[in-house]
Amino acid sequence: MRFDDRTDSRYNERVLGKDYERQDCSIARALEVVGERWTLLIVRDAIYGVRRFNDFQAHLDIPKAVLSERLNGLVEQGILERHPDPDHAGRHLYELTAAGRELWPVVHALFTWSDQNRAPSNRRFRHAECGTELDATAACPSCGITPPPEEIVMQLRHRRGGSRTDPVARALREPHRLTEPLETR
Ligand SMILES: [Zn+2]
Repeated sequence: MRFDDRTDSRYNERVLGKDYERQDCSIARALEVVGERWTLLIVRDAIYGVRRFNDFQAHLDIPKAVLSERLNGLVEQGILERHPDPDHAGRHLYELTAAGRELWPVVHALFTWSDQNRAPSNRRFRHAECGTELDATAACPSCGITPPPEEIVMQLRHRRGGSRTDPVARALREPHRLTEPLETR
């Protein structure tokens, strides 16, 4: 068995396990919940207001089986709640819990880091009440508070930006209040 970048990734999965059970650290405990691939992007989309399986799937281009597994995990971990979809019999809506909404500053911090260290983001976030753009810590400099996501409006800096044409990406070209259900039809 070689141990380099050609090593079978399934080997690593078996040997490394899926959790950090011997790590006595708060970050390890958080990564148990959001550290798997796709999970934080699902949380991001839920903060944007995505609630339906088909919308997550269209926006993330994620295999359905993986999406289903991640959504179940987030429900089990108390980040999302699953409700019957009143408009589609047999389908569900996924809504953020209070603990899920509290991941907003984490998502915003990743936006800021990526903006400063990778590539400039095309999204900006304003405090709905006063219109001021949030600072790097997700606070409103005018009001001196860190608004919860439902008090934040997200919009594109350049409307032409972004190459995606799925219904979620199209809906998010307009200014949108975070966590407000996104209309994709
Ligand atoms: Zn403000």
